Amino acid sequence: MQNHYCYYLPSSLTGISDIDCRKWHGQHGPMDIAPPLFQQMPEPLLDLKNECNEYDGFMTDSDNPTKQYGCYFVQQFRKPLNKSDPNSESIRASTWSAYLNGISRPNLQVLDSATVLKLVFDENEPTKCIGVAYEYKGQIYTAIARKEVILSAGVFDTPKLLQLSGIGPKEWLQPFGIKIVAENSQVGNNFVDKMASFMAFETYEQLPALPLSFRTFAWLSNSGLKESNRNWTDIQIFLYSVNPDISFDAPIIGYDPTLAYSQPRIPLITFLIYHTQPEASGTVKIQSLSPYDRPQIDHGWQNLSEYDRNNLQYIVNFVRNFTKNMQWGRKYVKQELFPGNRYGGSDILYRQLNLGSGYHPAGTCGLGKCTDNEARVLGIKNVRVADISLFPTQINVNPTYILYSMCEKVADLIIQQHSQDR
Ligand SMILES: Cc1cc2nc3c(=O)[nH]c(=O)nc-3n(C[C@H](O)[C@H](O)[C@H](O)COP(=O)(O)OP(=O)(O)OC[C@H]3O[C@@H](n4cnc5c(N)ncnc54)[C@H](O)[C@@H]3O)c2cc1C
Repeated sequence: MQNHYCYYLPSSLTGISDIDCRKWHGQHGPMDIAPPLFQQMPEPLLDLKNECNEYDGFMTDSDNPTKQYGCYFVQQFRKPLNKSDPNSESIRASTWSAYLNGISRPNLQVLDSATVLKLVFDENEPTKCIGVAYEYKGQIYTAIARKEVILSAGVFDTPKLLQLSGIGPKEWLQPFGIKIVAENSQVGNNFVDKMASFMAFETYEQLPALPLSFRTFAWLSNSGLKESNRNWTDIQIFLYSVNPDISFDAPIIGYDPTLAYSQPRIPLITFLIYHTQPEASGTVKIQSLSPYDRPQIDHGWQNLSEYDRNNLQYIVNFVRNFTKNMQWGRKYVKQELFPGNRYGGSDILYRQLNLGSGYHPAGTCGLGKCTDNEARVLGIKNVRVADISLFPTQINVNPTYILYSMCEKVADLIIQQHSQDR
């Protein structure tokens, strides 16, 4: 596992040198990250780079950094049309385009729009999983696994499927009359998400959108509010210069559509602000016996700890300071629009009414908690998890590339375990 530390941790914590870490960063994997093409960057956004000395410096290659704090332009997963020329046109890449689309493998059959209903267990050995029951085009089938079942239904549906199959906290399953196959208190517990909110500011003129290879400008920083987090970042802030018409990314549409579509159009920038290391955690529980029903999702954010509250306020103050007092802010930003005076100037009310998911939910079948250290679900045999449920804690950056790395590792573990049987 040591080579994976380079993806998550700075050298100061791992003792692995930057040079050694760079050797482990992939070069020829199926997923591509857009190169940071600074020559395409419009001037007001390039100016942002100059402010970075005030914030722990600039990370030139944000998805392969040797240090994980400072500010950066967030890169996208994109596939260059001409691989030997990083400056060539590129198209958006995804798990589907990298790992599945157009790939034919004798050992892979993909059933589009099939729904897994539950795990199937051996009649003679009740904790031994032998396959899954699934629905496809209105018919129910059973797929029998030769070796094991790998659950990748995501942070909500992986624990849901386990619970429907009788694996989970007993007190959650018994009210539905579900036969307990194995009690595992961590299935659906330890649900962790980033706390997100949003701010908007009027600018003197509408700033240009970022070039396609970038999504947004961002900061990773440490509030300094928690001793045990000192070596880690606990805030992440995204600045969007985009006009809400031209990008789904503009978070303002969800928070304040009247501001987004005001006539005449107000030139604005928006900040998506993240508390990345909340102390609060929640649960994902089934609420019926139907595999088609959503589980009940509780973030556990009803009574925030002092640290969680203070960190959220710290981030709001950070953005206000940037827009009001820093050189870039003084040059481009006219005034705060949201929350502004919206809640009678009360930041507490603003926070209570606008706190939302950072869209990085994780942890509902955590590695080493709900599973063993090789991602096998505790209490049953032959079931492994390979999705974001497996993150044992929330991480401080966007999760996808770490998730790929983790799932590649799980794939290696599967090969390792079964290679002798071939
Ligand atoms: C709006 C939004 C924006 C985001 N932006 C970013 C970003 O910019 N960067 C980043 O790193 N991350 C981002 N994320 C987070 C990222 O998308 C997730 O962390 C990631 O997709 C999790 O992958 P996963 O494989 O665990 O689960 P998923 O991607 O959710 O995959 C689970 C799959 O299982 C399928 N499934 C579920 N139940 C069943 C069943 N019973 N039978 C069959 N199939 C089933 C689902 O349909 C789904 O396709 C964003 C998330 C959201 C919602």
